[in-house]
Amino acid sequence: MNTRILLSPPHMGGFERQFVGEAFDTNWIAPLGPNVDAFEQEMAAYVGSRGAVALSSGTAAIHLALRLLGVGEGDLVFCSSLTFVASANPIVYQGAKPVFIDSEPNTWNMSPEALRRAFEDHAAQGKLPKAVVIVNLYGQSADFKPLLRICNEYGVPIVEDAAESLGATYYSKMSGTLGKFGIFSFNGNKIITTSGGGMLVSDDLAALEKARFWATQARDRARHYQHSEMGYNYRLSNILAGVGRGQLKVLENRIQLRRDIFKRYFEALSRIDGVQFMPEMDFGRSTRWLTALTVDKRRCGISAGELINVLADRNIETRPVWKPLHLQPLFEGCAFYPHEPGFSVSDQLFERGICLPSGSSLTTEDQMRVINLLKACLNRTVKVTG
Ligand SMILES: *Cc1c(COP(=O)(O)O)cnc(C)c1O
Repeated sequence: MNTRILLSPPHMGGFERQFVGEAFDTNWIAPLGPNVDAFEQEMAAYVGSRGAVALSSGTAAIHLALRLLGVGEGDLVFCSSLTFVASANPIVYQGAKPVFIDSEPNTWNMSPEALRRAFEDHAAQGKLPKAVVIVNLYGQSADFKPLLRICNEYGVPIVEDAAESLGATYYSKMSGTLGKFGIFSFNGNKIITTSGGGMLVSDDLAALEKARFWATQARDRARHYQHSEMGYNYRLSNILAGVGRGQLKVLENRIQLRRDIFKRYFEALSRIDGVQFMPEMDFGRSTRWLTALTVDKRRCGISAGELINVLADRNIETRPVWKPLHLQPLFEGCAFYPHEPGFSVSDQLFERGICLPSGSSLTTEDQMRVINLLKACLNRTVKVTG
């Protein structure tokens, strides 16, 4: 009766076994191999980048991108605040310090106003960042035009954290191809998964070759094991790349299913006073990786936190919107630039936000269970338009 409804479980498509089977049949049970090469080519073709490097995680991809940009000891890196900790941890791996930038209300992604203030402040101090990490939340691209204009003005490159936005678009471009480097994640809860994995994409093939080198323990060209640089064990296995190839074949279908799920939530709940869904901008397509909304307790009679508890009691997994990184104990003392002086958008989204079960395998019946419970919890005052 009350079977568990998960937030975003893996959803295999059927092609994965074929590619994994080939890996077994040919005994390519190793990092590297034909599935890895093919997965890289297929990903690059899908997003429209010149190249791609398959890695063990999205975090590894961010780490390599920052090292490629020369981020090192004592440097600064600007980074979206409303995101998963993995966006910023690699800044610390490199001995650099993050400066956090707030969201803006339209996309929930990086605020150009806050970014501009951060640049002006740091330019005045004569200390520009080495890179800017821009995150695309919950399947929607950030509004890159103004962000690119500011970064170009100061000559600072962008790492686009598209871990949550594979398949989203921004005008004519695919999410992940707007910065110097883009990164994707195939962690278990992402729109497609290899159980764990990541991808670094770019048009700079020489830089990608360097990333491949570092990701395989930086082994020099020599018969014996010789190393002149420090490397990592960051490559994706040929088995997992097989899962990825199968998943990539069904990606467009998964996007459609997640958008349909969003639409059903929206039609059922958007007219309730105090409920606000994450907006979708007309600059492109959101994948609606997760359906996210905010509830205003004064008008709904219940807070996001209380809703999460009620749903958990009924075996339904939901999740608060990311706790902004500038509020994390780990990053205490790091600078933060709010959207407006004295007003942080990300603080408010964290306080009021909730992510609903959005997996592409969610059945209509299960979704109705979530919707009916939400309807029963929320004060159903209909919005006064205007
Ligand atoms: C999932 C995620 C990552 C990290 O990806 P992993 O593959 O789990 O290392 C990075 N950034 C964001 C925004 C994510 O959601």
